[in-house]
Amino acid sequence: MNDFGIPQVTDLLEYRFVKEKIQKIPYALAKHKVVLPLDEVEGVLLVAISNPLDLEAVEDVRCLTGLPIQEVCASRLLLEEAIEKCYHQKENVASQLIASLQGDPLAASEEEEDGYDLLEQKTDSPVIRMLNVMLIEAIQQGASDVHFEPLETGIGVRYRIDGVLQMRHAPPKEYQSQLITRIKVMAKLDIAEHRLPQDGRIKLKMGGRQIDFRVSTVPVAFGERIVLRILDKSNVLVGLNKLGMRGPTLESLKKAIHLNEGIVLVTGPTGSGKTTTLYSAISEINSSETNIMTIEDPVEYKLQGMAQIGVNAKIHLDFATGLRHILRQDPDVIMIGEIRDRETAEIAIQASLTGHLVLSTLHTNDAPSALTRLVDMGIEPYLLSSSVVAVLAQRLVRTLCTHCKTAYEPSERELKELGLNEKVLYKGKGCAHCYGLGYKGRHGIYELMNLTSPIKRQLLKSADALELQKVALSCGMSGLREEGAYLVKDGITTSAEVLRVTRGCEDT
Ligand SMILES: [Zn+2]
Repeated sequence: MNDFGIPQVTDLLEYRFVKEKIQKIPYALAKHKVVLPLDEVEGVLLVAISNPLDLEAVEDVRCLTGLPIQEVCASRLLLEEAIEKCYHQKENVASQLIASLQGDPLAASEEEEDGYDLLEQKTDSPVIRMLNVMLIEAIQQGASDVHFEPLETGIGVRYRIDGVLQMRHAPPKEYQSQLITRIKVMAKLDIAEHRLPQDGRIKLKMGGRQIDFRVSTVPVAFGERIVLRILDKSNVLVGLNKLGMRGPTLESLKKAIHLNEGIVLVTGPTGSGKTTTLYSAISEINSSETNIMTIEDPVEYKLQGMAQIGVNAKIHLDFATGLRHILRQDPDVIMIGEIRDRETAEIAIQASLTGHLVLSTLHTNDAPSALTRLVDMGIEPYLLSSSVVAVLAQRLVRTLCTHCKTAYEPSERELKELGLNEKVLYKGKGCAHCYGLGYKGRHGIYELMNLTSPIKRQLLKSADALELQKVALSCGMSGLREEGAYLVKDGITTSAEVLRVTRGCEDT
């Protein structure tokens, strides 16, 4: 006990650091206030602090973690060392810079021309530097989105990595307006407009690589909320061979997309990697002898050698209208971003029956349901049976971090859920490489349904999803869960992850 009646700790290393809790405390705060969460016992967070009179620091940690706090004291030196160790700051330039910015005099943000290289830009403006390093960090860590959220006390900066949002930085409130203005200037938005949502685009380079950002602003309680979607071509144009499809699935899909006519559908929820698969498929068939045309909402990635049209509500250019125009341009292959309505579906079928290969996506849980959905839209089953060649359903599972994955003995129930009988499975403990999550990177799982005669017969009889699925499975289709189980068996992901992304496919 010290003078304040708070226990004093001399050896921090004897504590079990709870990574998920540490992650909730931005490095900037930990460093600035010299606080560090040590352990969580029965819902109470044990927090080490160097200055027990700093009630604000304790309050900040309580707010960020949502837990009641039990304080312990530790010497400043000891804590500072522990904080550096926990956050592995040497790898984390952006946090360091934000922390070092605290108290820096603010320089006015200056106008820059678009398309500069993030790695080469020299600037004296701390706000521009801060934004640049955050963007570099987000790109390097493979984030798909960066969220800037105005909070009462500052700006929350979160990255979406492998499909999951993670709080990363919390620059203080005084940077808010400059940071927001800077992003709006880069995206060529109206900086004076604070009350209406706006959309824009930023073009940048990083080490010569072109990276585009789609920018969206929305006014919220404490200011404007901005989301940057990172459009990194190298993430999308991976190529069919690198999507992680198992051999038979890959071969079947390749066969389907090399046909001269017919429809190939890719289905799955938002963020399941459908676009990547479509672009990879289309790149595979792209050659100077083929005229490939696409209609997308919006065109996010410009591809070489293809005519891409973006739907535009302002000029009444929707999927159906765009498709009609495309058909007058003598295409061989047509890619439709998504089939959402009967009209688009009808034109797609018409095109596929008159010598065009059509690729598109639908929003359904599994492959058989895609047919059900189209019938529900009002399409005649016989038209589908003569046009649709194959349906691919897909999901992305997070892959285990290779640095901290450990074997464990699975329970009977866990094995049963995925039809496995392994002695050991793997899980991630969480380490600095994966920010305590145990996962790093993603891997696709795919269910490919070829429209074989038995499926066509079933479709003509009834388009009931369960019936179609039964027939497809009996024809040798391997379901999403089953595909996921292969990855669990190989220690690439966990059973929990496979069950998470295949929720709603229990009947497979
Ligand atoms: Zn790890």
